[in-house]
Amino acid sequence: MKFLILVLSRGEGPRVLKWGMSSQLGEFELIARYFKMESDAMLAQGKSDAGSRVLLGIGDDCAILKEAVGEELAITSDMLVEGRHFFKNVDPRSLGYKALAVNLSDLAAMGAKPLGFTLALALPHADGHWLEAFSQGLFEIANKYTCPLIGGDTTAGPLTISITAFGSIPKEKAIRRSGAKVQDDIWVSGTLGDARLTLAALRHELTISAPDLQSIQMRMHQPEPRITLGQSLQGVASAALDISDGLLGDLMHILEQSHVDAEILLGKLPKSGLLLQQSEAIQNQFAACGGDDYELCFTAKQEQRDRLNQISQELSLPLTRIGTIKAMRNSKPSIDLIDSTGQLLDKDATASLLRSFDHFA
Ligand code: ADP
Ligand code: MG
Repeated sequence: MKFLILVLSRGEGPRVLKWGMSSQLGEFELIARYFKMESDAMLAQGKSDAGSRVLLGIGDDCAILKEAVGEELAITSDMLVEGRHFFKNVDPRSLGYKALAVNLSDLAAMGAKPLGFTLALALPHADGHWLEAFSQGLFEIANKYTCPLIGGDTTAGPLTISITAFGSIPKEKAIRRSGAKVQDDIWVSGTLGDARLTLAALRHELTISAPDLQSIQMRMHQPEPRITLGQSLQGVASAALDISDGLLGDLMHILEQSHVDAEILLGKLPKSGLLLQQSEAIQNQFAACGGDDYELCFTAKQEQRDRLNQISQELSLPLTRIGTIKAMRNSKPSIDLIDSTGQLLDKDATASLLRSFDHFA
């Protein structure tokens, strides 16, 4: 049996995260072992553009980033709370990966290039095995997208992971939610609904064979932020966001900020082979409203179609046209949903699809 005793002594020697009788790990030892070593190694490589912008990383009261002429700083935070955003016994390696992935996905949606991130961590106890695996997943993705860890905070508390990521964007090139124009095409990257399909299988809402589940579950546990796509969309997309709470709910944010309506062709939503094996109702529900996709949804003028097909080829990433931006008919934006037979969905069917995941519902 372990009892958590937190000793927080400001100013008098190292603060200690203590639990049980047998083991203890100082806060600074923990930071040094699981976060600072790997971060220093990344920064020492220094060749990367991102690394070269970090003048000072972990160890002082603040990190320092070098200013760059002609660039703007993009900043985003995401918090993951146990029991709310992830299961209690989730693999810590995937958790480390996903915690940074969701932040990088926000940078991608604006067209930003990662510069670095901070990590605020509340831990119920300092478990070395857990921290080792968490840190491995975290630095796997940090290295992949050259986004060094530059600071953070560590405390005892219910397991919570809060990351703030910083990115750079050429001056005035950020892709905002407010730029969609009437007649623009609506596009999405990748496929939609696989994270929701994985969740349904894990919750036993439907049955999927073990090998099939194996083939899609990374979509939920380790989503891939569309960083390169985001930067390629600078000057091409008129508006963009990343899909975290479901396509239709998130598209609404573009419509609200751009003061437009939209028409979406449900039959065009890109789906994995496995989702296509489900009933049409489940396909539509999961692709249109399932959360955790972390694909980009963006709008672009029709004359950008060739350019976008070229980007899709260059990145080996499907980009699919799923609808059109329309002039706003009422005081609030709305989405017309067209089913695979070309029929407009009625109000009730639309309302049930539009109910995307709401954390406070
Ligand atoms: P302060 O008391 O000045 O806020 P701390 O003692 O909390 O600083 O942290 C010491 C150093 O370790 C700081 O540079 C801080 O950014 C870094 N740090 C603390 N926790 C983490 C973490 N989980 N990941 C990365 N860096 C961290
Ligand atoms: Mg300080």
